[in-house]
Amino acid sequence: MRRWTAPTRVPAVLLAMLVAGCGAAPGPSSAGPPAPLSSVSLPSRAPTPSGTILPGLGGVTPAPGSSSALYSPNPGAIVVAIDPGHGGCLDWGVPNPYDNTLAKSEKADTLAIGLDLRDRLRAQGVTVVMTRTADVALAGADYPPLGCHDAPWRDVNGDGQVGFGPGVAANTNARDELSARLDLANLVRADVLVSIHINSMTQNGVVYKIAATESFYTDETPWGTGPAARLAQLVQTSVVASMGRAASGYRRQDRGIEAKNLYIVAPTSRTGRPGEPRRGALMPSILTEVGSMSLPAESELLAGRQGREAAVAGIYDGLVRYFADRPLAARIDALLPGGEAGIQPPVAPGSGPPFWAPLIPGARGDRRVTVRLTNTGTQRWPTLQLAIGWSASAQPYLGMPPSLSPADVSLPSLAPGESTLLDLLLKPPNAQSRQVAWITVTDGTRALSQLGSPPLQLATGGP
Ligand SMILES: [Zn+2]
Repeated sequence: MRRWTAPTRVPAVLLAMLVAGCGAAPGPSSAGPPAPLSSVSLPSRAPTPSGTILPGLGGVTPAPGSSSALYSPNPGAIVVAIDPGHGGCLDWGVPNPYDNTLAKSEKADTLAIGLDLRDRLRAQGVTVVMTRTADVALAGADYPPLGCHDAPWRDVNGDGQVGFGPGVAANTNARDELSARLDLANLVRADVLVSIHINSMTQNGVVYKIAATESFYTDETPWGTGPAARLAQLVQTSVVASMGRAASGYRRQDRGIEAKNLYIVAPTSRTGRPGEPRRGALMPSILTEVGSMSLPAESELLAGRQGREAAVAGIYDGLVRYFADRPLAARIDALLPGGEAGIQPPVAPGSGPPFWAPLIPGARGDRRVTVRLTNTGTQRWPTLQLAIGWSASAQPYLGMPPSLSPADVSLPSLAPGESTLLDLLLKPPNAQSRQVAWITVTDGTRALSQLGSPPLQLATGGP
């Protein structure tokens, strides 16, 4: 009774009887081709920027350079969001068929792997944001009938429902929890989101003693299948190799990658169906099932240091390869009073979403902010322009781009890792309602926020 998210997945071929039961997410079903995205207008006529850009603060800041194995031009500008799957009093993940104690639970294994991966990335200078660093849930886990007295429930996805138990729709808390994790990754503008899970192959009470690795991504994002599929395949290949070296005395399966809209990797819903996130991933995101606890030997391996190190090494190697070949990417930070955006946002009080877009400083009307743009790709920037769009919203931030206008300023052609600062004078189009700015860069055809580099979002009001 400890777990409550176990959607039944039915693999299509061979192994047809097996169920990959870990599924972190009540993901939406993929029904037909995606609807077109809301349009991003990049008019060829004279631009009419809704934000005025003041003269730049200065020239190019050289890339610091390093001996980092991961994006050596400027590893600190890379942000990796790590999501150790499950967590909190209610969600233990898949049950361990041999030892269903906390120490051998999926949520404990994924947290240990996630923390070690964090440390390894930080040692290489990379910025890491964790969706959890302890056995906690962001959306609450307050359910005394099961002995859970954690934080109170939050309605993160705004569907008017919270919690768990009788009278509450299935997966309500899972959706709120995963929405909070997506919000965090989106607001720190992570380059990638990696959700770590461990599988258990069971069906109808039958445990299939199989060890396997498989990874999931979505192909319904604005940037198509490219970056996320590449990330999924690189991590999959590396984890298979690494876990294979650690596995002793048993065979493992490489079950490959699959495009599947699991909630934690899905883009913002275009249909509004309750099983789809209202604010989906704004960056390439993957869910990797690094191993299986339904094979006793692998269950033991993953609960120990050697197995966890193998999982960490696999994910890490995949990330190194991913960032070694990412031609066009940008990071946009706001230098705000009290600390720049980009680090973990504070948790908002109340029962709604915990994470919100930062406030634009300044009085009503014109608001000024300094923005740092960094080339986080592997090629020198072509001619790029800043682009800004506004939308009135009561949500913490925007899940999809508003209509964007290029701003009339030429950005320097930054080399990989280089930065520049700009002063922006933002003019919210409406002072009566809360406005959210979506700030990105564009090559005149596509905004980088449509290529997997999340936009900077700033708001005129908070929760
Ligand atoms: Zn899981």
